[in-house]
Amino acid sequence: HVRVRFCPSPTGTPHVGMIRTALFNWAEARATGGKLVFRIEDTDAQRDSEDSYNQILESLRWLGIDWDEGIDVGGSHGPYRQSQRTDIYKDVAAKLLEAGYAYESFSTSAEIEERNLAAGRPKAFGYDGYDRNLTEEQKAALRAEGRKPALRIRMPDEDIAFDDLIRGRIEFKAGSVPDYVIVRPNGDPLYTLTNPVDDALMDINVVLRGEDLLSSTPRQIVLYRYLIELGVAHEMPLFGHMPYVMGQGNKKLSKRDPESNLFNHRDNGFIREGLLNYLALLGWSIAPDRDVFSMDEMIAKFDVRDVKANPARFDLDKAIAINAEHIRMLEPQGFLNRAVPYLKRDGVVSADSWEALSDHEREVLSAAAPLVQPRVRVLGEVSGMVGSLLSGEGYIEPEDEARKTLKDSAADVLDKAIAALGEVDETAGGWKAEPLHELLNVKLIDEGGYKPRLAFGPVRVAVSGRRVSPPLFESMEILGKDLTLARLQGLRE
Ligand code: GLU
Repeated sequence: HVRVRFCPSPTGTPHVGMIRTALFNWAEARATGGKLVFRIEDTDAQRDSEDSYNQILESLRWLGIDWDEGIDVGGSHGPYRQSQRTDIYKDVAAKLLEAGYAYESFSTSAEIEERNLAAGRPKAFGYDGYDRNLTEEQKAALRAEGRKPALRIRMPDEDIAFDDLIRGRIEFKAGSVPDYVIVRPNGDPLYTLTNPVDDALMDINVVLRGEDLLSSTPRQIVLYRYLIELGVAHEMPLFGHMPYVMGQGNKKLSKRDPESNLFNHRDNGFIREGLLNYLALLGWSIAPDRDVFSMDEMIAKFDVRDVKANPARFDLDKAIAINAEHIRMLEPQGFLNRAVPYLKRDGVVSADSWEALSDHEREVLSAAAPLVQPRVRVLGEVSGMVGSLLSGEGYIEPEDEARKTLKDSAADVLDKAIAALGEVDETAGGWKAEPLHELLNVKLIDEGGYKPRLAFGPVRVAVSGRRVSPPLFESMEILGKDLTLARLQGLRE
């Protein structure tokens, strides 16, 4: 059965491309009843950080992408952090060297460049194989100069081809891939060694990763052949390379683009269902004209062979629209529970969990949920919608764009509304959205002669401080008579 892996390097903040890779590997494991192995490739002490490591874990947990073996959960192929597997790489490197599949290379990059220049080869030609056949004497002489060798893999003089699960047949011509370094002169093993060695030792049989790694595949295939010869690997894995994700202006989405930062999306109030749904569309689709689906539905349909090879485009507007659909599908209480941390962050409520809120806050939010849930696209928008409902302030300072809508007639409208609403008997249960709407229709439109926009606009601005708000009369019902009147008075003065 299928064994896939997610093996990020802990550098920087989790980004869209990285998480799409995690998601597709997870979907492949779940769709096939296989296993997802989660390994951390932290062999670059200069660039790796514990912060980044923790953020990657946090992002997977938040999204609900779980794994069967690896970091934290353990398993029989550990350890799962490459920094703890140094002895394994040393051992394999020694075997490769002994078998002649790898050789010691003393050339510095300056020397390689110089030789290419002298021979009229382009700079991009790379390493020329110079050290392939050094004699023991020559090596001893170089060592005597104080030089330390890197280890390079000996590439065979033949075409290398494989059938990519996503892109079909892919061929690399003989001689197009130079012998490459697997261990640095200082003894540090490189990605080129550690990644295939671990895939082999962890029995990975499907390697699903980004298109940017396509050029390393012929090297890995060759190394794999050697590992099989040496009894380190059992079988060549299948490879699938997922398409690039393009951002604004049809440029590759860069890790530095704010749209690429996973936590930016969480901060804006994407919910996991919405974000996962959107990430799934970056290279895959569930049906020709269907965009919105759950992860259960994805798993039921996912087949890596259906992933498209052509570049995917990250479209934030579409992502937000999909998120809105998922927000609408939440249970009202679930919606509120998830919104509370955002409300706390924005200073709108007193605590960051539903249970810790005051009775008043819970009451207002429960009443507001049906008004707000269908109208927000990300949870970050909830604060603006409910802020005025939770506030006990008798005057709400209007936002600029709300104030701008107020015409000269606003004063008269407010006076009429205050007079009419003052007559309503709240204790008799008359303070309800519908009768309030009726009442102001009669007083402001029928009798007052105002167009609806001029009639209700100032009332809305007084009550919410905003031009766009949750439905006006429902808001007035939630606020109650005293607070509503106080706000109308407040704006009038
Ligand atoms: N650690 C590598 C990366 O983050 C993994 C590449 C691969 O999937 O082979 O790019």
